[in-house]
Amino acid sequence: MISKFIYKANIMKKLALIALVASVVCGCAKDDSDTLKMITEATFPPYEFMRGQEIVGIDVEICRAVARKLDRKFQCETVNFDSVIPAVISGKADVAAAGITVTEDRRKNVDFSDPYVKTGIVVIFKKADPYTGPDCLKGRRIGVQGGTTSEAYVLEELKQEPERSTSPAESVAGLKSGRCDFVIADVDPARNCVKGEDDLAISDFITSEEYAVAIRKGRPDLLKAINDTIAECKADGRLQKWIEQYTAEADSQKDK
Ligand code: GLN
Repeated sequence: MISKFIYKANIMKKLALIALVASVVCGCAKDDSDTLKMITEATFPPYEFMRGQEIVGIDVEICRAVARKLDRKFQCETVNFDSVIPAVISGKADVAAAGITVTEDRRKNVDFSDPYVKTGIVVIFKKADPYTGPDCLKGRRIGVQGGTTSEAYVLEELKQEPERSTSPAESVAGLKSGRCDFVIADVDPARNCVKGEDDLAISDFITSEEYAVAIRKGRPDLLKAINDTIAECKADGRLQKWIEQYTAEADSQKDK
């Protein structure tokens, strides 16, 4: 168990080192570049997912609106979730938006915008082997997407090793094939994963979390543009419209 905490401490040290080096030598993502680069992880409907070759979703719309406000072009790239925050620290991208939960650990390495959604993680279970509370997870095989708050929940709250995957859907495939007994994931991708799966269900929230956009520390103009954009999108109804539109689109992809 001690090794898990050493593992985590090592990751934190590596991130801090990248942040330090980036602040000294970085020349990639700058406030005066003509393109705002977004980094995400596009297996997370309805916040980001693939429509053919295109990355679409609520987070993409928010960041596109930031680019428009700054009068810059917009680019979006997808990587594994555990590479999303390092990409803004190193300057490979300007804004990270991937249903990223604000946590104190992450705050040591990046600045967060104001939150734009209140949410949390849930347990996905087989109706034949229902989730009855945290105790029923102890000693069972629990699938999570690597690098997420779901992984942290298994390591820190349950004090056990999770079965890691690269997406909520891959974890749920593991639940169906018997590779794990439960899956923990954020509520919206979890709902999308169980849609049409009559033998699966999801629990109530087991944590309370908020999503925000992450950027490299020390970019106050960019942070203000993001916060102003989020406030405007909330006030004029665009955020709510995107939530409804992309939830429906992601659900309809499952019907095909
Ligand atoms: N909200 C979770 C986190 O920040 C999961 C995000 C994701 O998998 N895209 O860890």
